[in-house]
Amino acid sequence: MLTDKYNRVHDYLRISLTDNCNLRCFYCMPEEDYAFTPVSRLMQAPEIEALAKIFVAQGVQKIRLTGGEPLVRKDAADIILRLAKLPVKLSMTTNGTRLHEFISVLETAKITTLNISLDTLVADKFMLITRRDLFKQVMANIELLINKGFQVKINVVVMKDYNDHEINDFIAWTKHAPIQVRFIEFMPFNGNRWTSNKMVSYADILHEVEKQYTIVTLLGDKNDTAKHFTVAGHTGTFAVISTMTSPFCDTCNRIRLTADGKLKNCLFSDGEADLLTPLRNGEDVLPLIQGNILSKAKQLGGQFTTALNTMEALAIHNRSMITIGG
Ligand code: SAM
Ligand code: SF4
Repeated sequence: MLTDKYNRVHDYLRISLTDNCNLRCFYCMPEEDYAFTPVSRLMQAPEIEALAKIFVAQGVQKIRLTGGEPLVRKDAADIILRLAKLPVKLSMTTNGTRLHEFISVLETAKITTLNISLDTLVADKFMLITRRDLFKQVMANIELLINKGFQVKINVVVMKDYNDHEINDFIAWTKHAPIQVRFIEFMPFNGNRWTSNKMVSYADILHEVEKQYTIVTLLGDKNDTAKHFTVAGHTGTFAVISTMTSPFCDTCNRIRLTADGKLKNCLFSDGEADLLTPLRNGEDVLPLIQGNILSKAKQLGGQFTTALNTMEALAIHNRSMITIGG
């Protein structure tokens, strides 16, 4: 088992397939021109499979594919089908733009739950946030997936003056749609223009919903990062991921592998362990994995030491979100 010095067992691995993406969400990509990692420096399909097997042998039970956009990788289907053979629950976080091309692959891989990111229900605003005109495609794909019987979770990063006034439009969507809307507090990463006053807190999100609805609290699972709710009479549910104002580090079971094969023990960790180079050299990577997990900080990568309202994104030593894999 992959246990850290605070006795947290890590059985959930998130693998980034690429730092490339067909959208340009400003909160995820660095502001300056960004050069995507050349393919030769990315983990190749057999390397992803080999590393995943090592983690599974150490007790990993759940793998989530992410990125960048996992489905822009040319060999995405091959990777999904390789990982589907492992004894894990496999899932994916995607921007939804290419899902219609992957339905049969997802079905063959027995992926039943998908997290799809969508920050707005307004086409023009989608363009403003992502800088790409793909709103209709994402909406059509969400509908397609729901009709095909997939469990769909919608990830919404809530940002003041961008989409905070749409919180109750998303809640209204859950009235008839069997979806889970997950409101995510905006987090600071390298170059993403985060400021504390752009962040909408967990408390503010609930307050906004309460203006129109009576909220019912639902029970969550033990390692949940989300706090779960519904509105009486609604088919769907909603949740809040309160990383910034109410972190869930005590029960964290997550580790991340970046697309270039670096292990990160926390979304906000400063350090990382290169697994790809030693794997390519035929070395044993297990001691590196164990050492990296033992060095995991108690909370938020040990980096958030100042009050939220005085915090600056640039003071946090980290990659940009697109190069970590959210
Ligand atoms: N491209 C895929 C997508 O957009 O779903 C997967 C990668 S994306 C980095 C994973 C998740 O991280 C998305 O739900 C995205 O909204 C979220 N995310 C990115 N930057 C964020 C930030 N600064 N704060 C909070 N969530 C963020
Ligand atoms: Fe691409 Fe997802 Fe980042 Fe948006 S959030 S730029 S879709 S990786």
